Amino acid sequence: MEILKNYVNAGWVQSAESESITVINPATQERLAAVPYGPATGIDVDQAVKAAASAAASWAETPVMQRVQPLFRLKTLLENHLHELAETITQESGKTKAEALGEMQRAIENVETACATPLLMQSEFSENIARGVDEFVIRQPLGVCVCIAPFNFPGMIPFWFLPYAIACGNTFVLKPSEKVPLTMQKVVQLMEQIGLPKGVVNLVHGGKETVDALLEHPLVKAVSFVGSTQVARYVYAKGAQHGKRVQAQGGAKNPVVVLPDADLDTTARIITDSVYGCAGQRCLAASNIVLVDDQQGRVKEALYEAAKSRVTGYGLDEQVDMGPVISTESKARIENLIALGKQEGAALLLDGRQASIDGFEQGNFLKPTILADVPLDGKLIKTEIFGPVMSLINLPTVDEAIAFVNKNQYGNMACLFTSSGAHARKFRSEANAGNIGINIGVAAPMAQFPFSGWNDSFFGDLHGQGRHAIEFFTQTKVVIERWPKEWSRKF
Ligand code: NAD
Repeated sequence: MEILKNYVNAGWVQSAESESITVINPATQERLAAVPYGPATGIDVDQAVKAAASAAASWAETPVMQRVQPLFRLKTLLENHLHELAETITQESGKTKAEALGEMQRAIENVETACATPLLMQSEFSENIARGVDEFVIRQPLGVCVCIAPFNFPGMIPFWFLPYAIACGNTFVLKPSEKVPLTMQKVVQLMEQIGLPKGVVNLVHGGKETVDALLEHPLVKAVSFVGSTQVARYVYAKGAQHGKRVQAQGGAKNPVVVLPDADLDTTARIITDSVYGCAGQRCLAASNIVLVDDQQGRVKEALYEAAKSRVTGYGLDEQVDMGPVISTESKARIENLIALGKQEGAALLLDGRQASIDGFEQGNFLKPTILADVPLDGKLIKTEIFGPVMSLINLPTVDEAIAFVNKNQYGNMACLFTSSGAHARKFRSEANAGNIGINIGVAAPMAQFPFSGWNDSFFGDLHGQGRHAIEFFTQTKVVIERWPKEWSRKF
């Protein structure tokens, strides 16, 4: 089986590590490739970071209008290879091809937004801030920047960072998740055609040891991490300890509040899409659904019907709405959490365990699951499930619903479904989360906006995407100049 190579200084090189782990198609258990995995990946990191560091000075001096030209070419290449990339995403992550195409669309939008870097990097200038004195800000690149990515969006998440970093004049080392390394392998192969100088973009494979080597490397200046809260916290602390600028996006447990005046059909459709899209493996998946004053269980019934009708199966099959979860371990963990919910007193309204899909009996499939009347004082209500499970909670008033939302240890997203502008306004102002949706089920910021997780969903100051990315990937230099009139010689 192919052991994936790293991309260093514009060449594909074999890892120094002889141990590897297998990349598995979660629907079929087919072995797709092997990824170098072990302590010697630190040697790979050193090579890649040194290559990126050697390329940094001349890339930083390249005018920004020239630095974005490869990104225009990348956009076109990604569009031309959209289906092939989406199929790779489905094969390695399990999500449906439609979801994979949507993911690549978001990736492309980040490339497009980063093409505006010549404008976004422009700075402030104050003339005559004192007599004969001007003051201005220059934005300069940092040097070698690193991205450590999770498994659930193999094609999109690196693009929250990479295009902005290089457009700002930095060089880059990308470490994809060892569970889904193939998509970025293909993207980097495409990037060979866009005219970047050697060493500007590098790719290293591996797991924890690779991450540690990146965090400890003295030439790395900035780290963008996305993954679970536990690892995000670790990366943030360790990166800071080694003097890096760090942005670390973590896990989530997203609440969605439904008021009695919400449009029933739209609400049920959008919430089930949010809970079960990507088999619940989205950091913006709705998880705790708070039904406010749900007289006669109207909303509960509509959610049940919408969930029941979703088709589970292989993501490359067009009729399928939901694919498998990433691994057998993940499936077992989710099944245990469903059992925990029942044990804590929730009612199992829809049980998606024991899912068997014809022709894919070995796949890590779970069907849509609903736990109703989930107790407020249990463990499940606070635990990120990262699987296709909806938890229903009943509360009598909007104020109690907002109080529930605001107890959340995370803060990635909070949504409200209503037809009342006043309630919407109060919710968006008071909810303790960084991405708010009003009649939206997945409040994913578009590329022009920061991906604004709060609390345990984010460690750092500047988020990914848009202007925040430009600020994260540049350091400001303030210049004060004195040129008094009296010094001018007559010519
Ligand atoms: P993960 O934390 O297990 O892995 C993420 C990355 O960290 C991978 O590249 C992995 O190799 C590395 N890693 C894993 N364990 C490590 C360790 N002990 N030390 C150092 N590095 C380590 O996350 P995952 O399972 O790949 O992704 C799912 C998680 O990511 C969920 O919690 C989800 O909510 C979160 N997520 C968050 C966002 C967001 O924007 N906030 C987006 C996507 C996913």
